[in-house]
Amino acid sequence: MLQLDRKTVTREVSNAQIEAGGGTIVEIDGDTPWQEAATQISGAVQVDIRFPSFKDGRGFSLATLLRERAGYTGRLRAVGDLIPDQAQFLHRVGFDDVAPDRTDLDADWARARARFTHAYQPAQDRVTPIFGQRTATPKDDLAALNARYRGADAIDILRDAIRNEWTGRIAILSSFGAEAAVGLHMISQVAPDTPVIFLDTGRLFAQTEQYQRALTDQLGLTNIRMVRPQAEEAMAEDPDDKLWQRDPDACCALRKVRPLDNVIGDYDALITGRKRFHGGERMALPVVERLDGRIRVNPLASWSAQQVTDYFQRYDLPRHPLSDMGYASIGCWPCTAPVQDDDDVRAGRWSGRSKTECGIHTPSRIAAE
Ligand code: SF4
Repeated sequence: MLQLDRKTVTREVSNAQIEAGGGTIVEIDGDTPWQEAATQISGAVQVDIRFPSFKDGRGFSLATLLRERAGYTGRLRAVGDLIPDQAQFLHRVGFDDVAPDRTDLDADWARARARFTHAYQPAQDRVTPIFGQRTATPKDDLAALNARYRGADAIDILRDAIRNEWTGRIAILSSFGAEAAVGLHMISQVAPDTPVIFLDTGRLFAQTEQYQRALTDQLGLTNIRMVRPQAEEAMAEDPDDKLWQRDPDACCALRKVRPLDNVIGDYDALITGRKRFHGGERMALPVVERLDGRIRVNPLASWSAQQVTDYFQRYDLPRHPLSDMGYASIGCWPCTAPVQDDDDVRAGRWSGRSKTECGIHTPSRIAAE
């Protein structure tokens, strides 16, 4: 722990949330002047505002000013002496979560925490209460967005999504698989500090891990967010490391779906690299869709395999080490096999089973449009 001054403590954190991204959590006393606080939180992935007493309201003011004046759109957490009755107001001024010192009110806090369900979105005006702005993109916007992006270049879609539509509240989900370098290269051109969520299932090929590190360095990506399954859950549900064999759906839920669910609340939109030519359920993939109340942006939805190949060549991007060995789509080692030239690109995933998707993009979870 590094003590900076009386008011602020910056912790290098080692959990999966920001591992490898070099991110920091900054803790600030509630009485810190907002201009001073604004300089101290630069680059932080989370800001904790400390309340010395639940009767001291200065933390509320600081949160409001960081949101409205400083334009801070990252994660904001209230810590210290707080009571459950304050939950609604904490939410209203822009907090995403709360970590009270007192533990004797856990049951009340559990109920109150249910209010912290909507991600913060930057203010569009100074009239609407912040609480009112913390809602998902209206359903009707999807049709307009898809119309706007129809025929647009993928990098222009990415640029608009990152810089205009979901500024500060968007991440890209990447497997660092066979085609991942295309979308990641575009990210490096538009905003290399965009969070890159990498689901480390514990079952990845060693080559994928090496590729992740090498590609991250080469592209200058600065915000890799490693997301891993909970160790306790993995021990309880997969004690013999054979869950993938017995019940691959349960294994994907443990190692992919639930870990992603644990962090997805930090974003309003996720960028994916899915493409229609992958076949199956992806053949009807829209550029923008809603899944469980959050947006998925698929800027490469209309791309062909040839376009992917051409992009690799044009920018001299490194291929995944397994690509030359016949692996056209690369996930976990127990569930990935090489394919023949005339096979579908994803034929090597869960080969011999009816399973075709891991569940993080399950179409049944997509709200009907
Ligand atoms: S792809 Fe296979 S090993 Fe990986 S999480 Fe799913 S079932 Fe488990």
